[in-house]
Amino acid sequence: MDALEQLKQWIDGCSRIVFFGGAGVSTESNIPDFRSTDGLYNQQYDYPPETILSHTFYVRKTEEFYRFYRNKMLFPDAKPNKAHLALAKLEAQGKLKAVITQNIDGLHQAAGSREVLELHGSVHRNYCTRCGKFYSLEDILKTEGVPRCSCGGVIKPDVVLYEEGLDQSILSRSVRHISEADMLIIGGTSLTVYPAAGLIDYYRGDKLVLINKAVTPRDGQASLVISGSIGEVLDAVTA
Ligand SMILES: [Zn+2]
Repeated sequence: MDALEQLKQWIDGCSRIVFFGGAGVSTESNIPDFRSTDGLYNQQYDYPPETILSHTFYVRKTEEFYRFYRNKMLFPDAKPNKAHLALAKLEAQGKLKAVITQNIDGLHQAAGSREVLELHGSVHRNYCTRCGKFYSLEDILKTEGVPRCSCGGVIKPDVVLYEEGLDQSILSRSVRHISEADMLIIGGTSLTVYPAAGLIDYYRGDKLVLINKAVTPRDGQASLVISGSIGEVLDAVTA
């Protein structure tokens, strides 16, 4: 039996599927991985992305942070792709319990997914650091430079920056979903970024599926490895 047929059969027989996704899920909606470089002749920033997206940098150079953030992290026109839509469909059918994502673009919710655990936060939520007032992505897009609250405070996106801790309640819900899952599908991540590698160790079942364009360090541990586009694969097995 080929891998796609095997995956389809497992999906048919499972009812507590959990999906864990990384940047590769969003790149298929034309959202580039922020770690991808600008190229030698198109260097727009004096610091690497990991530096700009750190808490220290945000505090010290808020204006430069927002220049990068607006250019590299905000894609308001992006639409859910086949992967997002297939996962929403599986949840609606009662087969999938949760999507755990490292992405911050909100595309799973846009596709109709309800139980979405955003490990790294979301560009759709922004809060005044002085009074706590909420601002949407649309509110941020209407501003330029460093966005300010009506009270004068700086507005910060609800995105987990380097040096900042993950939300403990999101983490514990993720652990619970993974430990109760009858199938764990992992897609679009190299599994080298914290906390992905550690989280999947909570899975106790025998249907660990990896869908990726490149090999990952966990391929040997998987029950099924499918090399290919996450959107194409999930679309094919949920059609
Ligand atoms: Zn305020």
